[in-house]
Amino acid sequence: MSKSKGTAALKSFYDVVISGAGISGVTLAALLKTSPFFKSRSVLVLDKSLPNILPAFKSTSSNSSNDVRNYSNRIYAVNKSSLDVLKRTGAWEVVCDDYRHWPAYQMQTLDSRSRKGFTTFSSADPDEPVAHFLESEVIVSSLLKTIENHSSNLAEKFSLTQNSITQLKQYPASVQLTLETGDRIETCLLVGAEGFKSQVRNLAQMKWFSYDYKHHALVGTIHVECPDGNKAAWQRFLDSGPIASLPLDRNTASLVLFAEKSKLDELVSKPENEIVQTLNSYWTQDFGYDPKFDDVLGILSKAVENFSGYLDVRNEEPKPPTVTGVQKTTLATFPVGFGHAVHYVKPSIALVGDAAHRIHPLAGQGANLSLLDCDILFNQLEKAVRIGENPGKCSYLLEYERQAQTHNVPTQLFCDLIYRLYGKSNSPAVMLRSLASFGVNNLGVLNSAFVQWASSANNSFAKMASNRQ
Ligand SMILES: Cc1cc2nc3c(=O)[nH]c(=O)nc-3n(C[C@H](O)[C@H](O)[C@H](O)COP(=O)(O)OP(=O)(O)OC[C@H]3O[C@@H](n4cnc5c(N)ncnc54)[C@H](O)[C@@H]3O)c2cc1C
Repeated sequence: MSKSKGTAALKSFYDVVISGAGISGVTLAALLKTSPFFKSRSVLVLDKSLPNILPAFKSTSSNSSNDVRNYSNRIYAVNKSSLDVLKRTGAWEVVCDDYRHWPAYQMQTLDSRSRKGFTTFSSADPDEPVAHFLESEVIVSSLLKTIENHSSNLAEKFSLTQNSITQLKQYPASVQLTLETGDRIETCLLVGAEGFKSQVRNLAQMKWFSYDYKHHALVGTIHVECPDGNKAAWQRFLDSGPIASLPLDRNTASLVLFAEKSKLDELVSKPENEIVQTLNSYWTQDFGYDPKFDDVLGILSKAVENFSGYLDVRNEEPKPPTVTGVQKTTLATFPVGFGHAVHYVKPSIALVGDAAHRIHPLAGQGANLSLLDCDILFNQLEKAVRIGENPGKCSYLLEYERQAQTHNVPTQLFCDLIYRLYGKSNSPAVMLRSLASFGVNNLGVLNSAFVQWASSANNSFAKMASNRQ
């Protein structure tokens, strides 16, 4: 792959132009690179600031906290279907050889208002992780390395360049782009992968429905102690917003705390020991605890135990990790919002990732949806090119939109619903979520269905949709 700054000479035509080299843009580029049908096709990836390929940094004691580089604060929970995509591109092999990742075998959610309203999600096979936790830049670097490894003889076919689009003009079967450097190029397919402020979406005047949540997210690296070796991801719902601990190695985790920005800024301004103390109080203190919810769940548990021999009812709330330190320099806040592109496609134009949909990060699904988009779009592009069609042909793009939206929209709405349900402190809302947790926790069928939904994005809805073709 040729990599250049904006001044490098560009060709006047590319089969596919991808604007944005984040996780979505680079995944799509890597999938195209693996396809025999795209061998003779040219692909250009543009980004306003080029991503770097991280040097390999795995230490001799793999997956230990002795790894040489500090963790970055952008961590993704990679689910099973995203893992399949990374494996198909070859990037997962690079992650395992050169970088680091950490598996979680359980997802634990706790509710500060009810000690019995906790939920434990795990795979049907206890040895199978529910998710792998990785830094965003590790995923991007691994994908770029695979593109580089496989395209030495195709250097002129795959280019990554620092540039951005300032204008676009649509023709019946192509798009003409004007770049920041003044270059003009034409392409059969332009993919907008620039995140939720997508320039392609704006220039193509594609409708975007969005709103901001009242919360921001504080992220950063924390040190933890936990008896299970830090093999679970944790989330506790508080009236002020959820707190999460995403495992990175035995004693390190990534913090995600949702609250109003002023509250997060105040926390960050405190000395380290006070931040640690506050975080531990968020994990353990009874904020608004009301025993009446536990009493109802206690009665329900008894009834379930009495009337069914096969259900394994668990009453003991699991114990979350204890925070022992915080790396203050890694703390950063991000706004959190919802966004939905009414159409993901137009003739010769497609949106993927956050450019098409923005989701509340509480379930860690944003990057997973992005990888799913790339996989669905790639399959449609391959279908088109295999029979000699133009990759930007609208019927294939519309099929991508249909399949992707069938999965993405319910997932976005579900995360929005969870956020709203746990943001309420009134009794009906707390009772409803406690009962839902009880059901998911104690009914194996419901639990497996939920884990299957969250970890295998491209089976459920999207497969149902593709089967209807
Ligand atoms: C606090 C927080 C925590 C999160 N946690 C998780 C998690 O645990 N799991 C998960 O799956 N998701 C998570 N997400 C969501 C995740 O970050 C996004 O869904 C994901 O990054 C989307 O990838 P993308 O490639 O579409 O966009 P981005 O990652 O935003 O990448 C966009 C790229 O486009 C480039 N770009 C921008 N504008 C232009 C332009 N005009 N021209 C050219 N290039 C441009 C940028 O430089 C960047 O490289 C979280 C999000 C937040 C805010």
